[in-house]
Amino acid sequence: MSARTIGMDFDYTPKQREIYDLVGELGKTHFAPRAAEYDEKTVTPVANMRDFIDAGLAGLTVSEDLGGLGSGAMGRDPLLYIIAIEQTARYCMSTAHSLHIHCHGSHLVDQICSPAQRKNILGNVVENGALLNATGSEPGRTSRGLYNLVTAAERVDGGYVVNGTKNYASLADTVEYNVIFAGIKGMSPTEGHIGLCIPRGTPGLTLEEGSWNPMGMRAAVSPNILLDNCFVPDDYVIGTPGVFPRDRWQARFHLGFAAQYLGGSEGIFDYLTDYLPKRGTASDAYAQLRLGEIRIGIDSVRWLIYRAAWLWKMRRIEEAELFSMTAKHRAIENAVNAMDKGAQIAGSSAFHAKSPLARMFRDLRVQTLHENLDKTAATVGKYHLGQEFDTTARL
Ligand SMILES: Cc1cc2nc3c(=O)[nH]c(=O)nc-3n(C[C@H](O)[C@H](O)[C@H](O)COP(=O)(O)OP(=O)(O)OC[C@H]3O[C@@H](n4cnc5c(N)ncnc54)[C@H](O)[C@@H]3O)c2cc1C
Repeated sequence: MSARTIGMDFDYTPKQREIYDLVGELGKTHFAPRAAEYDEKTVTPVANMRDFIDAGLAGLTVSEDLGGLGSGAMGRDPLLYIIAIEQTARYCMSTAHSLHIHCHGSHLVDQICSPAQRKNILGNVVENGALLNATGSEPGRTSRGLYNLVTAAERVDGGYVVNGTKNYASLADTVEYNVIFAGIKGMSPTEGHIGLCIPRGTPGLTLEEGSWNPMGMRAAVSPNILLDNCFVPDDYVIGTPGVFPRDRWQARFHLGFAAQYLGGSEGIFDYLTDYLPKRGTASDAYAQLRLGEIRIGIDSVRWLIYRAAWLWKMRRIEEAELFSMTAKHRAIENAVNAMDKGAQIAGSSAFHAKSPLARMFRDLRVQTLHENLDKTAATVGKYHLGQEFDTTARL
């Protein structure tokens, strides 16, 4: 039996290789040199996003019928966009998150919207490089649960009027469409959970000045969105009420996060292999040992992520959700481990405030806080104990 027959193929397809090389080249020549300035100025990496658009990658997670590349968890080639995010994170974590969130928003529209909406919104993505995001987060959501939103959508003639505050709205200042989630007034949090794709310039949507000033991921500018009687017509209401929790859409984005942690760890590894010989410590047995441990961790995580992507491709949905959590868990642990072991062999001189390594550490540490590591592992545990579980209960 050939390897292909039993579904085990550990090589990239020609298209995947092309994306790996293309984004790697963009990262090396464009994203890495710009990273310090974006970080210092705390601005969205618009030139990097433009580079993706110019390279024909705006439609990475849009289906081929609209001219996209057909990736995304529910796409024909789930691994393709994961590779792009991984390779971007290697050079700039903030840009990788920006790409991830655009891919996330456009994939959702691709999969749950009507043909007319897909043509209108995603046509604009593929043809004009319009960007989207996806903001579920809002102040205090952690203790209320992922779907228990305070931001309220009230049904009126021809659409919804929305009021509330969203936070952590990545790319909000740059996108053509702010995708936000709200709860329909008078319905339960899950049944009334609704997505709204709000075009730029819609009255009643403003960004809260000064609401983004974190320690790391500074260029993944994610301000608060204030919604004040913002009318969203039906043409921009995405999917039916409750589809996001019902189909566990959040689980379809686990791997995009995992790819960021993987790429960020690769960035640290790249830095160390360049830095240690220059520093004269490459012959130190402990430096060799730690570097080898970091490499082994990275390679292990990569194959977990790639296998999870394969499960999505095979449409083994429940397995894919759970294994994506496994991959994400290991990707976080590995990233934190790479930071810890890397710091020990790099030494304090590598950490002056403006060094690339310092920025990578700040970014990776903040970005790995998206997730609740323990809750992720406990969900996998629940499944194996035959108990009820939800692969989206926590990010
Ligand atoms: C750079 C960046 C970009 C982001 N971009 C987006 C985006 O584009 N869209 C979006 O929707 N979100 C985004 N987020 C938000 C992210 O997905 C999380 O919602 C956010 O990080 C939650 O932060 P938190 O401080 O509320 O802490 P959480 O991580 O939610 O919680 C912190 C800790 O609280 C504890 N905890 C958990 N549950 C409970 C409970 N029920 N009661 C008490 N304690 C509990 C746990 O120990 C947990 O680890 C972004 C975040 C970052 C850092």
